[in-house]
Amino acid sequence: MRVRVLGCHGGETPRHRTTCLLIDERITIDAGAVCRSLTIDEQVAIDHMLVSHSHMDHVKDLALLADQVIGRRQSPIVLHCGPETAETLRSSYFNNFLWPDFTRIPTVDKPVMRIAVREPLSRFHLPAPGAESAAVAPTTLADGEYEVRYVPVTHPVESMAMLIRGSTGSILYSSDTGPTTKLWEVANAVTDLRGMFVELSFPNHMQALADVVGHYTPQTLAAELKKINRRDEIPLFVYHLKPGFYEQTKRELDALNLKNMHLVELTDDFAF
Ligand SMILES: [Zn+2]
Ligand SMILES: [Zn+2]
Repeated sequence: MRVRVLGCHGGETPRHRTTCLLIDERITIDAGAVCRSLTIDEQVAIDHMLVSHSHMDHVKDLALLADQVIGRRQSPIVLHCGPETAETLRSSYFNNFLWPDFTRIPTVDKPVMRIAVREPLSRFHLPAPGAESAAVAPTTLADGEYEVRYVPVTHPVESMAMLIRGSTGSILYSSDTGPTTKLWEVANAVTDLRGMFVELSFPNHMQALADVVGHYTPQTLAAELKKINRRDEIPLFVYHLKPGFYEQTKRELDALNLKNMHLVELTDDFAF
């Protein structure tokens, strides 16, 4: 599984981009930096978008992407969202006021984007190109085929962490979250976990704010990691630092001396 980092920060400046990962050229995790990172042809190649939650730094490029690929694809791009995120996208985003309803344009039968509601703790199958999706993903996955599991985490809105299993193993993406439990229980039962992308947003002195808005600081991240079995063996990829406090947060992260940890950068391109 190839994971290309398009955005890995909790805000945007000329040197920082909001969260967006590209898996094997045709699946994105979130949509914080699709359009400024990919060529038109690369944008048109996206078939599935795993949308963790409705916050703007994770959904902002859905709007421009929909507009950009219209007339250039045979099938809708599928947005996989939890029920509350789906409702927010319908009522407050593709609502014909903030942006046209691209889930009904150009026609209801063949729209640019289609919303697929994914219940908390559900598993779903993303088929290889040209294949049919199955109700239950096979135990052994072919190249280009995936099983995704959404696990709700701790944030002011519904926020789904996700485990993505491909033919070469699984990766974890925490989504935006404060201290949480279920995700680590689920992760501890995954035997082929190759990497964990875990958020970190604010420095320690902003703990009170981080608690209110559902994010980690270095000290809460350190406590969370103790919940993970085999933590030192599984590579940890930290993302979502706020640009305004980047250097301080990075210093506090470095001081934790975490084994097998990498602070994600925009040029990163991983193979799992
Ligand atoms: Zn965020
Ligand atoms: Zn958020």
